[in-house]
Amino acid sequence: MDIDMTKKQKKVLYRIIIAAILIVVLYFVPVEGYLRFALYLIPYFIIGYDILRKAALGIAHGEVFDENFLMAVATVGAMLLGVYNESRGLEGEFAEGVAVMLFYQVGELFQSVAVGKSRKNITALMDIRPDYANMEKEDGSLEQMDPEDVEPGTVIVVQPGEKVPIDGVVVEGSSTLNTSALTGESVPRDIKTGEEVVSGCVNITGLLRIRTTKEFGESTVSKILDLVENSGMKKSKSENFITKFARYYTPAVCYGALALAVIPPLANLLMGNAANWSNWVIRALTFLVISCPCALVISIPLSFFGGIGGASACGILVKGSNYLEALAQTKYVVFDKTGTLTKGVFQVTEIQPSKAFENYIAEKTATAEETESEPAGRELLKYAAYAESYSNHPISKSLKDAFGQEIDMTKVSEVEEIGGHGVTALVDGAKVAAGNAKLMKKLGVPYEENTGVGTVVYLAINGFYAGYILISDVVKEQSAQAVAALKAAGVKKTVMLTGDSDAVARHVAEQLGLDEVKSELLPGDKVDAVEALLDEKGAKEKLAFVGDGINDAPVLSRADIGVAMGALGSDAAIEAADIVLMDDNPMKLALAMRISRKCLRIVYENIVFALGVKAICLLLGALGIAGMWLAIFADVGVMVLAVLNAVRCLKIKSK
Ligand code: ADP
Ligand code: MG
Repeated sequence: MDIDMTKKQKKVLYRIIIAAILIVVLYFVPVEGYLRFALYLIPYFIIGYDILRKAALGIAHGEVFDENFLMAVATVGAMLLGVYNESRGLEGEFAEGVAVMLFYQVGELFQSVAVGKSRKNITALMDIRPDYANMEKEDGSLEQMDPEDVEPGTVIVVQPGEKVPIDGVVVEGSSTLNTSALTGESVPRDIKTGEEVVSGCVNITGLLRIRTTKEFGESTVSKILDLVENSGMKKSKSENFITKFARYYTPAVCYGALALAVIPPLANLLMGNAANWSNWVIRALTFLVISCPCALVISIPLSFFGGIGGASACGILVKGSNYLEALAQTKYVVFDKTGTLTKGVFQVTEIQPSKAFENYIAEKTATAEETESEPAGRELLKYAAYAESYSNHPISKSLKDAFGQEIDMTKVSEVEEIGGHGVTALVDGAKVAAGNAKLMKKLGVPYEENTGVGTVVYLAINGFYAGYILISDVVKEQSAQAVAALKAAGVKKTVMLTGDSDAVARHVAEQLGLDEVKSELLPGDKVDAVEALLDEKGAKEKLAFVGDGINDAPVLSRADIGVAMGALGSDAAIEAADIVLMDDNPMKLALAMRISRKCLRIVYENIVFALGVKAICLLLGALGIAGMWLAIFADVGVMVLAVLNAVRCLKIKSK
């Protein structure tokens, strides 16, 4: 294991080495009394000055009881006890006071190196931070710029082997992109001129010129890094437990130590024995050293941090340890259909223009100057694609793809997208509506009900029924497996909510083995359905909603855990969700649950182990069996083991 330390960490290391050498040297120096004390103060201050300062500041700010305070009291106490002993002609054990401080610092150094190392592991796992952006100079040579300084609209060059630093559109070139750092999947994506690229992908084959559409800070890479780095802000219950625990625990042990130092000697005096002060004070100080809760305080956040980091490397972004924790308790999983369980890539299977539409087209071409008439079906698809030109809905994308030609956006205006219905727009002067039966009813258009299998997009032009386009979606290969994996992981109920027709919904649900389906829902109805399920489930059980972020932001935020899928390049989804699956593989949810369980198991192991060892040591310390040395070894040892255990969270078997 190679360890490179920061300057600060190195400084602590040097202090540890110097103090250790001084202690050894002083051991052999034959001086006595106050001079001995004064000499031991040198290594004591070298190793402990910052702890003493922090303890003093804590007291000044009224936040007395923390681990710095514990260490300061224990070591100052030990030193004073040494002076007391020396004054009585005994040998004061100053070395113990210094050693406690020394080992405490060794422990602190170890933990800060471990945290630093796992932080670095995470960023290395998520190797997406671009270092530079290439700008082309007049003479054709490339200049490397800080991505932060690149303004939107600038054309940058990405060579094969380089990371795309900023989101943008390809203006020249075609290539294959490796998205594995973002999605955890190594399926390359082909990209050509006119297509959007997201930052963080690696360009594999060809040279690309990209016009940036965002600033660096707004690009996918920055958003993802922010999200991972800030995920520590949202604390899990276990972390909050530790904070609360420390609030009562630390003062409790301080008073306990005080009692241990005072009550037995007083009792001795009352019973007419010698008070034996120094014996009880040393026990009390040992008690204080043992009770320091550092192992817990550090290992729990570190475990969650590791779990979140390991998940990011699999393309699963978790926005806080509270969500990672909640995942383990997920018993209800609610899916959106389109784009989540199905591919959301619709094939046009039938185009059926109405008689009225054929007449409309015939009239239009008769009056037009240029008589370049196309078949009515093609014209219908064209109207649909134009009306949908501004929409991001999977249906709209599929219609645009099926149309396959450049869309002249200047001919489209007054676009209105009605969630769960469809769109209306003014296309070349005609009022076009494209959507489902609900939309036709809403507009009062007398449409002909279609019973074919698939999703029907009805069209109306200027209020008359213009025909329909039948499209069909296919279920993702992994969906059935994902539903089964969730069931196996202890999920009680899987539900699908969709705005699509009942026939399509039931067909999909049967293929996947879902427990419940609700169809023909508007976005608002989906919220109601999720709320009903939230009422149904037990208090400790959690409900996760998985959607693609299109039309379902309200449900994403209403669920206990909102999971957005296929989020690569979708800002809306990244923002609305608590957990973001970068690619669109529904199996990732089951993987996320496994990561969460493992992480929580490690957290509990650490809590039980650390508290268990503490309890035993405290008892032994109070009974006078365990001395200062054992106390400090136990403390540092528990911490090291707990941290090593916590680091295991980072390692994830992806399959
Ligand atoms: P899902 O619940 O399957 O994700 P949505 O709530 O996004 O579906 O949409 C529900 C239904 O509304 C779709 O099946 C479709 O019939 C209609 N719809 C929504 N948006 C559009 C659109 N842009 N064009 C055509 N139809 C749409
Ligand atoms: Mg949807």
